[in-house]
Amino acid sequence: MLKVTAETRLVGVIGDPVRHSRSPLIHNAGFEALALDWVYTAFPVRAGDGAAAVRAMRVLGIEGLSVTMPHKDAVAAAVDRRTPAVDALGACNCVAREGDELVGHNTDGDGFVAALRAEVGMDVAGVCAVVLGAGGAARAIIDALGRAGADRIIVVNRTAAKAERAAELSDRGRVGSLDDIASADLVVNATSIGMAGGPSPAGIGLDPALLHPQQVVADIVYQPLRTPLMVAAEQAGATVVGGLGMLLHQAAAQFELWTGLAAPLEAMRSALDHPC
Ligand code: NAP
Repeated sequence: MLKVTAETRLVGVIGDPVRHSRSPLIHNAGFEALALDWVYTAFPVRAGDGAAAVRAMRVLGIEGLSVTMPHKDAVAAAVDRRTPAVDALGACNCVAREGDELVGHNTDGDGFVAALRAEVGMDVAGVCAVVLGAGGAARAIIDALGRAGADRIIVVNRTAAKAERAAELSDRGRVGSLDDIASADLVVNATSIGMAGGPSPAGIGLDPALLHPQQVVADIVYQPLRTPLMVAAEQAGATVVGGLGMLLHQAAAQFELWTGLAAPLEAMRSALDHPC
């Protein structure tokens, strides 16, 4: 049973809304598995208060923060130092202490790449990837795919100007169309289409005949666990990856930044799979 004392180290997630977050579940399972006297909670922080939350972290001695909507940009601007990924993206999803400095990281893209490796053994070096979407998650994935050596990164998005800006994140990026899916090794849905309560699954508008058994099809949406795209990809014989792996691996990277210890992935995954 969790026992919080004056020695307990505190980390948490800031966001609005944030009470639905699965991050406390994942991180507290990790702390428990390693018998660390750490606790992770959720802080509902209103839009506009991201920089104040960073100041609070300094004042209260909070060890680290996960950062979710709508604070990723404001926190990126408020930290003492940023990783190259945060500089490129202008968005930060994790703050960690390094000595006296608060450093802004973005673990989303690398978490996605790590999930592909862990779940289906895919190394993205040399692959042709089609990324559907150009929002915050898509941009992090495009940046990480580029750094991990993807050969071509083709961005397909409803709003053309956003697709252009996202494709510029990598020198191997370009804007494309849904037809590019037929020649892709990796197809990623990084839009909110397919998410429970989100835009209609018909919104992607892709022809399932473009999917085939030589592809990996990843959907980063994790509510529901099986999205319409995943069902179509399975029917086409493709290798399918759901969104929980990215959620787990981006959290594991944060855990390691804060504690300096290897994240206990099995315990953290089990907390996601069996939340009660
Ligand atoms: P975001 O910044 O709001 O971007 C949303 C993206 O979806 C944009 O590209 C947007 O296109 C597109 N989109 C939304 N509605 C659409 C519609 N009706 N038709 C076509 N395109 C539409 O959101 P985000 O933070 O990137 O998150 C995207 C999804 O990823 C969410 O479902 C989120 O839960 C999930 N996610 C998962 C993880 C994980 O760890 N698995 C991590 C982060 C996010 P426009 O540019 O044209 O508006």
